Amino acid sequence: MIAIFIQRLSYYWKLITILLCVCSCSTIYAQNCNLIIKNGRIADGTGNSWYRADIAIKDGKIFRIGQLDSLKAESIIDAKGQIVCPGFIDIHTHIEDDELKNPLATNFISDGVTTVITGNCGESNTNLNKYFKFLDSLKLSINVASLVGHNDVRKAVMGKAMRTPTDTELKKMDSIVEQAMKDGAVGFSTGLIYVPGIYSHKEEIASLATVAAKYGGVYCTHMRNEGDSVLDAIQEALYVAKTAGIPLQISHFKVGGQNNWGLSNRMLQMVKDARTSGIDVTIDQYPYTASSTALSTLLPEWVLADGQDSVKARLERPKIKKQIINYLVIRLSNRGMKHYSFVVVANNSMDSSFNGKSIEEINLQLNKPHTPFSESATIIELIKDASPSALFHTISEKDVCNIMQYPYNMIASDGTIRVMGIGVPHPRSYGTNARVLGKYVRDQHLMTLEDAIRRMTSLPAQKFHLNNRGLLKEGYAADILIFDEKTITDNSTFSNPHQYSSGISYVLVNGKIDWQNNQSTGVRNGIVLYGIGKKD
Ligand SMILES: [Zn+2]
Repeated sequence: MIAIFIQRLSYYWKLITILLCVCSCSTIYAQNCNLIIKNGRIADGTGNSWYRADIAIKDGKIFRIGQLDSLKAESIIDAKGQIVCPGFIDIHTHIEDDELKNPLATNFISDGVTTVITGNCGESNTNLNKYFKFLDSLKLSINVASLVGHNDVRKAVMGKAMRTPTDTELKKMDSIVEQAMKDGAVGFSTGLIYVPGIYSHKEEIASLATVAAKYGGVYCTHMRNEGDSVLDAIQEALYVAKTAGIPLQISHFKVGGQNNWGLSNRMLQMVKDARTSGIDVTIDQYPYTASSTALSTLLPEWVLADGQDSVKARLERPKIKKQIINYLVIRLSNRGMKHYSFVVVANNSMDSSFNGKSIEEINLQLNKPHTPFSESATIIELIKDASPSALFHTISEKDVCNIMQYPYNMIASDGTIRVMGIGVPHPRSYGTNARVLGKYVRDQHLMTLEDAIRRMTSLPAQKFHLNNRGLLKEGYAADILIFDEKTITDNSTFSNPHQYSSGISYVLVNGKIDWQNNQSTGVRNGIVLYGIGKKD
């Protein structure tokens, strides 16, 4: 009897041992992961204080966060006490046509950007299904989402005509926006200083924004004015948001023109009041005192209608030329300026020796008189032959700082993918995030490190419904950045822009290392991110 009892006991014991072994083996198997980041200080994107923990990554996602000594990984990164945070989400970019030039997008990756939203300021592909397929086949180092842009939608239906659309035309525009939202756009954008958006009225914009709203889109606007009439322009943007019932994003929030410096207080108050009244409005900003856009934006809007040929023909007529020169001379004196020294040509296809020089300098280089009249004539000559991009040094540092302190302000570059050494572009494409973290957080204490990171990560992810991004959280995409907050620095300057930011040790996109020790790894692991309104 006892013998049978002992025999049974030993049988059960064996069974329990086998079961325990199976369980623990499967646990070990399940706990294997691709990569562990150890010894980091986690700033998780919520804005909460950093804490110490390790992060395990598996299959492109964050697998575990905590004390992870029991986990096994294929490789380990020692963060050496540096900050570990979500990759930055740059919601305001213009990468169209530059993707092929540098698919590694090194200027963005080196500045900690792992996701961009393109299609801003009214410029986008109108067939987003085709565009997303192109991005899928190309594979960039960064994730990409897109807006659908008003200017291109309008051009597709009515060219560059300076008039309001007919009902039929508006319906056609509505349907292009609707299809783009179904294809996965994250919203609708306008650029109301550009042709042909400049010819549209707010009711047209509200109609198109209403369509985007149906699919969970955001309305992003480069407003009609960012200078003397900026308050009216904010009013118009708020009107569209309210009428269409759509969340509003005011792009590159700023005020230009020496005579308008200090207006940022009133501008921010309008945003705060609108939020109090129930309008879901947020803003974004690049941390520089110069803007960058087409030189032709200096001209009156009627000159720019109907395409480059018509523009050239107009500018060659002596009477019109004289009229525009007078307009430009008056514009200069209204700013209290004697010369067009604050406008610097960035990329002139006809003569690259002009790149990096102000209109004043170019005019002198051409041996022309040192007068506002002559400089205005030089501007017309430049625009007539091509349409160069230019930098406009017209923003006050005080306004930049004031706007930066607003908590629902995201950091966004307004940049594009750059090729090292080409042109003299605005430094924002290279250094936006590092500049905020170095100059404005570390040196000037305008906000906490954690709050700056929140505005570069979870705030944009929340606004554009980029689900499972923007936070360091189990199950979220492993878009991760490791940097030293004591040394992070933007090195790109206006005179020498092609410089990567420093202080960023690692950038991971969807779990793979895209940037390590100041260079690209050559990995292109970005994907297309679709809007929540996408229909299959
Ligand atoms: Zn813009």
